[in-house]
Parts: sequence; structure tokens; C-alpha cells
Amino acid sequence: QMADESVNMQELLISPLRLEPQPSLPLPIDLFGTHAGARKNSTGLDLTVPAMRAPLLAALQSTAVPAVATANVAEVAKAFQASQASFAAWSHTDVAARATILRRAADAMLADTPSLCAILVKEAFKTWGDAVSEVREAVDFLRYYADEAERIMQPIAMPQVHGATAAAYTYGVTGETNTLRLTARGVWVCISPWNFPLAIFAGQVAAALATGNTVLAKPAEQTPGVALAAVRLLHAAGVPADALQLLHGTGETVGAALVAQPGVAGVVFTGSTQVAKIIQRALAAKDGAIVPLIAETGGINAMVVDSSALPEQVVDAVGMSAFRSAGQRCSALRLLCVHASIADGVIEMVQGAARELVSGNPADLSTDVGPVIDREAYDNIQRQIARLTKEAKVVVQPAANEQSALPNLIAPHAFEVNSIADVQAEIFGPVLQIVRWSGDPSEVVAQINALGYGLTFGIQTRIDSRAQALAHAAHIGNVYINRNMIGAVVGVQPFGGEGLSGTGPKAGGPHYLYRFCAEQTITVNT
Ligand code: GLU
Repeated sequence: QMADESVNMQELLISPLRLEPQPSLPLPIDLFGTHAGARKNSTGLDLTVPAMRAPLLAALQSTAVPAVATANVAEVAKAFQASQASFAAWSHTDVAARATILRRAADAMLADTPSLCAILVKEAFKTWGDAVSEVREAVDFLRYYADEAERIMQPIAMPQVHGATAAAYTYGVTGETNTLRLTARGVWVCISPWNFPLAIFAGQVAAALATGNTVLAKPAEQTPGVALAAVRLLHAAGVPADALQLLHGTGETVGAALVAQPGVAGVVFTGSTQVAKIIQRALAAKDGAIVPLIAETGGINAMVVDSSALPEQVVDAVGMSAFRSAGQRCSALRLLCVHASIADGVIEMVQGAARELVSGNPADLSTDVGPVIDREAYDNIQRQIARLTKEAKVVVQPAANEQSALPNLIAPHAFEVNSIADVQAEIFGPVLQIVRWSGDPSEVVAQINALGYGLTFGIQTRIDSRAQALAHAAHIGNVYINRNMIGAVVGVQPFGGEGLSGTGPKAGGPHYLYRFCAEQTITVNT
């Protein structure tokens, strides 16, 4: 039934497009080039420029979502053995050679931007802007982890003497040399989500491979096609077939079978807090080694707006953070905490901004908000909307006749609730909750901390000292001051949370790769 639904959806996506004559262009064109009038997004992509949109629209027609086969438990076990067998050769491959392979894959991915975007539009219902940003992020992950592996995997000669000359202190004894090096751990299981089915997939896989581990990857069952396209590029670039294997299926079957393999060296997972805990328990219950888990999960992400904030800037940031990508980002804004003195004005502007957003066919260039991923997600979000419609004050709700014929489409919604503590669940869709506050803003941060999540946090204020104080008081991984709170850039805004939001380390940051490695100290008596 799910397969039928997605086939229909793909036809629906293509049919309403009004295709223009396509100018013939050399590929790859510089989709990320900046030019006058470029939209301010992380890509610099301006879809109003024909040279930029033509290859994308052509790819939509010519690219099919690759078909995949579901793995069974016996195939998982076989893949695991092959992965283990390939570990010695891959982990002994010079780090520079592994990095070269990943950079080659990054170049190929960039060159393939139009067809990868087309798959993202058809399979994950991404808007073009989101699709292009995602390919860029995947490319960034491959390049960044290649660079980082080369940087950190050089052996370090440990000094005997530490400290500045005046306060120098000798820890060691003379007559020894000590070397510290990072080593690969073995077979990593990478379990990635449907909301960034290329970028997070590529990030997990690249981190494990760059550090010399071998990989069994299970992409989300909703979005296996783009993962397969990426793996083909990685294999063509030189990653040995057994060192990177894809296994398709659900978490309950294939995911569980992967985690249960004896000898798994580590698991990296992005998805729900609940599933992260299931994996953690499964790993803890196994015989043998203590297996590390890297988990990046959800958040009830808040933005605190004080009375000095610039309302236009606030509303711009709210629209981007709460509704773009149909709210299907872990980083998305869920809870807007606005100072009572400016709340009426800000709420009115949020209403206007939400109505401006075009919800519809993601393949249409003008669409801002596409459908949510599947019927199950749609039903869950609609249940929450129904509950809030009863329990809270409606701020933004499209009229029934504004809803499109496209399946699983949910236009932006907003509700005013009484207190921060009322917000207990992450709603993974374009649904914003708003609360008014007065008094001490650090009290507001304390209440946000008490929710237990710690992924992203927005602060809007013109008082610099307050912004810093609130940022430091928040037990939250990514804090954005006076801007939107999505779209962390690899290598620039290391991304990831704490508490219910994840284990750390931060993806796209300088500490990430260490967690994929073991460390070895070699002491030689000289
Ligand atoms: N890294 C993405 C961002 O900053 C979110 C990743 C996710 O949703 O898992 O928006």
C-alpha cells in the first residue's frame, strides 16, 4: 500500500509542471555560484534564473528514483561478515588515500546535483531549494571529514614536559618515547533518517569511512533511493564494495538485525529519542564489548523574543525555522516565547507571514512547503493539530478549502498555549506553538531547559549581554542569536544536542571523528 502511494505521488509531482524549453547547458553548471540578486540561502541558488533551474527541471523528467530490494536477516549476517573481512584492508589504507576517495565522491556528487535533487524531490518531497541545500551539505560532509581524518589521524608524539617554560612540569620518565594514535574500530552500523536522506546519510557514512571503519548502512525505509544513488557514487570513487554496504528495510527488522550482530564496533543513529534508547538498550544487552552509540535525536526547540527585538527579523526567522521544510527538521522551531509587551504585534505578523507561504507541489518552483513524508506522519501531525485546536488558541489555521489535492500536505499552523510546560511532545511538522512571557527571561530559559531537550535555541534581543547570558544558561547544543535556527553549515556550525536530543559529538565539527576511533598509546623503552 505504501509503495502504491509513493508511485502515485511521483506522478502527481511531475504532471503539474509547466516545462519551458530547456536551453542546452554544459553540466555541471555552477548551481552554487553567487550573482547579483541571488536569494539569501545557504546555496546562493536563485531559481528565478533560467540557467539555474533548467538542469533541475530537466533532471526531474529524466531521473527515476532507484529501486531497492529489502534485506532479510540472513543477508544482514552475510553482509556483516563481508564487512568484517574488508576491515583489515580498508583500515590499513593510508588516510590520505581514503580522503582522496571521499573527495572524488564529493566531486561526483556535486556534478550530479540535478539528478540527486530530482530524487530528493520525488522521494522525499523536498522543495528545490531544500534539495539543492541538501546536496551541498552532503558534499560538504564528504570533504570536511576527509580533511578532518587527515588532520587528526597523524600519530602524536607525546611530550614528557608540559607547560610554559617558567611553570614547566615533567610528567614522564626519561628513556622512553610515547606515541598516541587514533585507530579505526571495526564495522559501524549507520542508521539515517528520511528528513535528510542524502546529507545525514552521507555524513554518517563519510565519518566512519574516513577514519578507516567499514560500514553497514540502513537508510530510512521511506528514502532508500537517494542513499543508493550516493553509494553508487562512493563505490565508483573507490570505496571497496564490501567496505560500504547498504541494507534496506525497516528499523524493526533490518535495523534491529544490524544492531544485534555480534562484533558491531559502533552505531551512529539519527532519528527519534525513543528509537535511540531502544538501540542503546539493545547494545547494552549484548554479550561482548561495550559498544559506543552516537545518537542525534529530536528537540522541542524554542526561541525567546524580548521586548527589544526587531519584529520583522523575528517573523522572518520564525517563518524559516518553523515552517520551511514543512517543519521536518530536528532543528525546527517548535515553541516561540514572545514577550507579552510585543506579542500581539508579532503574532499578527506571524499570521501574515504564514499565509504568504505557498504550500503545494514541491516540484513547482514557487512552493515553500511541500507534503510531509508519509501518511503515518500526516496522521500523527493531524492528531496533534486536532488536539491543539481544542486545547489552545488558534493563531494560524488554513481554511479547509485551502488544502490542496496533493496527499499528505499540511499548510503552516500556529497555536497559542498558556505555558511552556504545556508543550510536552515534538510535533514533527509545520506546527508552531506560541507562549507569552513577562518577567525574568532567565526564568524562561530555565523552563525551556526543564523540557529536557537540548538541540537548537533562538534568541532575539538587541541587548548583547542578555543574549550571551541566555545562551550560556541554556543546556542546548546550537544557539542562534537574531537569525533563524535551521540549516547548520558543516565545518562552520557544528551541529548536535544534549539531553533528550542526543549524545553528541557534533556533526560537522572538529570533535566528531574522534568518536569513530579507538586510541592507542605506544610506549618504547629507548
Ligand atoms: N542539520 C539540520 C539543521 O541544522 C537539521 C538536521 C536534522 O533535522 O536532523 O537544520
